[in-house]
Amino acid sequence: MRRVGIMGGTFNPIHNGHLAIAQKAREQFALDQVLFMPSGVPYMKDQREVLPIETRCAMTALAIKDLPGFELSEIEMSDVAQGKNTYTCDTLQKLKIVDPEAAYYFILGADSLYAIEKWEKPALIFQNCTILAAVRREEPENSQAATKPLSAQAQYLREKYHASVEILEFAGIDISSTKIREKVRKGESLRGLLPEAVERYIIAEHLYIA
Ligand code: ATP
Ligand code: MG
Repeated sequence: MRRVGIMGGTFNPIHNGHLAIAQKAREQFALDQVLFMPSGVPYMKDQREVLPIETRCAMTALAIKDLPGFELSEIEMSDVAQGKNTYTCDTLQKLKIVDPEAAYYFILGADSLYAIEKWEKPALIFQNCTILAAVRREEPENSQAATKPLSAQAQYLREKYHASVEILEFAGIDISSTKIREKVRKGESLRGLLPEAVERYIIAEHLYIA
């Protein structure tokens, strides 16, 4: 059975945190391939801040072009054309039709594992994939980890939904797209936060400055 990772996100923009957890997942779970999947309509986010899907896909393609085993998936683009919100449960069902033989591994960060019950049809998500969760290093006041460790959240989801949830052996990396957008606005350096090709694209296209 092919083992296919899904690295989903708004990728506004994609950054080294996304690449790092996908790489860790690929190694630790011997994934044959990781699909980088920019979300079509991330309805939980402030839409004024989210760049068009084409731009987010372009940055994603630049970020992964030299990384073996990483591929861009534009499967959620059709949600934009149809004017519907993107739900991970729907995307997983589409993928099951495209490749019924594959085993899917959905890669996410701690904040997403704490929020996943608020996503559309979480039980259906758990039915169709294994979740691979990474710690996320953040300011303590923003972090739910202070009240509940990631392993406890994983165990809670296993018991409530019979979900398959695994924790990545990942030390954590303090990068977010929000911080990157702020830095661009302030004209600060992005060194080490995202691939250089993505940084050059952001500057050339004047993204995130308005
Ligand atoms: P924003 O600040 O706009 O929310 P983000 O940096 O959180 O952006 P998303 O596109 O929202 O990036 O995240 C996609 C997925 O990647 C989520 O599951 C998120 O938890 C995970 N992720 C993002 N950054 C990190 C990081 N530094 N460490 C671990 N996981 C991360
Ligand atoms: Mg986020």
